[in-house]
Amino acid sequence: MTSHFMNLHPLMTDLQLIWFRQDLRIHDHSALWHAQQAGPCIAIVILSPAQWQRHDDATIKIDFYLRQLKSLKQQLQTLNIPLIIEQADLWDDIPEKILHWLNTLQIQTVHANIEYELNENQRDRRVIQHLANAQKSLKLYHDRCIFNVGTLLNKNQQPYKVFGAFKKSAYEQLHISLPQCFPPPEVQTPIDLTTQLPTHITSTTELGLVATPREQQELWPVTEAYAWTKLDDFIQNDVQHYDQTRDFPNLQQTSMLSPYLNIGILSIRQCLQALFRPHYGLFEITQRGQQIWLDELLWREFYQHILFHFPHLSKGHSFKTELQHLSWRDAKQDLYAWQHGLTGIPIVDAGMRQLLHTGWMHNRVRMICAMFLSKNLLIDWRLGEQWFMQHLIDGDLAANNGGWQWCASTGVDAVPYFRIFNPVTQSERFDPNGDYIRQWLPELAHLNAKVIHAPYTFQKDIQLDYPKPIVDLKQSRLRAIEHFKQHSS
Ligand SMILES: Cc1cc2nc3c(=O)[nH]c(=O)nc-3n(C[C@H](O)[C@H](O)[C@H](O)COP(=O)(O)OP(=O)(O)OC[C@H]3O[C@@H](n4cnc5c(N)ncnc54)[C@H](O)[C@@H]3O)c2cc1C
Repeated sequence: MTSHFMNLHPLMTDLQLIWFRQDLRIHDHSALWHAQQAGPCIAIVILSPAQWQRHDDATIKIDFYLRQLKSLKQQLQTLNIPLIIEQADLWDDIPEKILHWLNTLQIQTVHANIEYELNENQRDRRVIQHLANAQKSLKLYHDRCIFNVGTLLNKNQQPYKVFGAFKKSAYEQLHISLPQCFPPPEVQTPIDLTTQLPTHITSTTELGLVATPREQQELWPVTEAYAWTKLDDFIQNDVQHYDQTRDFPNLQQTSMLSPYLNIGILSIRQCLQALFRPHYGLFEITQRGQQIWLDELLWREFYQHILFHFPHLSKGHSFKTELQHLSWRDAKQDLYAWQHGLTGIPIVDAGMRQLLHTGWMHNRVRMICAMFLSKNLLIDWRLGEQWFMQHLIDGDLAANNGGWQWCASTGVDAVPYFRIFNPVTQSERFDPNGDYIRQWLPELAHLNAKVIHAPYTFQKDIQLDYPKPIVDLKQSRLRAIEHFKQHSS
């Protein structure tokens, strides 16, 4: 363990604590900027392995977080901001930890960016209360979204429940002003402290987790600079075709920025500024690809706002209350086959294996896999949501829950229950040559572009080291429609 020994300057009464959470960057960081306006800063990160486990965070996501934390530490060093690495297994212990450091360092205020999930919100309220008893305070700032959550409301001052209306209102606001990035962080005068600061960044193996293989780590390099390059490349080369390419999983033409946005290596304002940079930062849409990408950022926004306004979503409840008690099949073998890419439906299996191998899955395939589980297999969407969370590097409660409930028809502005994707038709349409399937299912790589989408259907006598479909697509579709019809008002 390395440590700092420093002397606290007697006049250093305006020292500030900046608490990093899902926002591991130093640029365009709302809380850091505000903290620096108030005085010199000391930073803190609190690692909570048991809490991460309760939230089903994937090992690959934790590994990504810890790798980025090392980079953040180096960046903070360049600003002369010391970083405390604390551990509080569960969030219950956090108020006391924060107070301990505020007392030890003689600091009055801790600054942090708001997190909108229920547990996160409760944690922060407990911190606020605990600090108030000691005449200290936690100051929270909006940072994660384009619009301050709670401010984008319809004319009845209610949250939007339809994406189209939410988007229209968002466009109106963006026309008025495009959110600007905060000025760059300042290099502060080095602080003299007498206190020893814990600075050791643990590894996933020290936490008792399986080490993430190097090949997987290499798919997702960290650092802010890397995320900027990835964003710039996408804006320069891909966004103009995004409307035509985004649904084809083998083309890899989406930005793949979700992991970076999720732990805050990149900010949403940086994405917007990059998108409108060719227009000198004006909100001007000249290409369809540009507009469709903006709409995807707004889906992210929509689900964050929804999660905030409807906290029951954080507890695993359906958005549509009438579907809360919909019964589901208890089919452990089918669930296992789905989880491991062994359903006998190639596009579904390819997606599920991409997830296991890379920690990421293409959006179109996420929809196909989620709909297959919740409709064709009639298995509770919560089990799928949990499996995704346990394996996604970009696992995010708002987007994951929103995506799952959209596919299961239980969510806000969800797909109607009778519009069920046929995974084979989807496969033929969005992976016409079967290249995506070939990449993830080597046992089918030799099949031609027709047969590969449903080998046992298109070539009856075929012998393969690959399972037969675990469900009949037509019958299971009808079963799902009938089942949902009975429970829908
Ligand atoms: C069942 C299901 C589960 C999902 N789980 C997650 C999740 O845990 N975390 C997550 O970030 N996204 C999730 N999504 C949304 C979407 O699949 C991913 O954001 C997207 O695939 C990330 O790839 P990209 O960065 O290349 O996206 P791009 O196509 O480049 O889009 C840019 C950004 O917009 C946001 N975005 C795009 N589509 C959506 C969407 N439908 N909903 C919300 N935000 C969106 C993401 O932040 C993304 O990085 C889920 C979708 C479904 C259908």
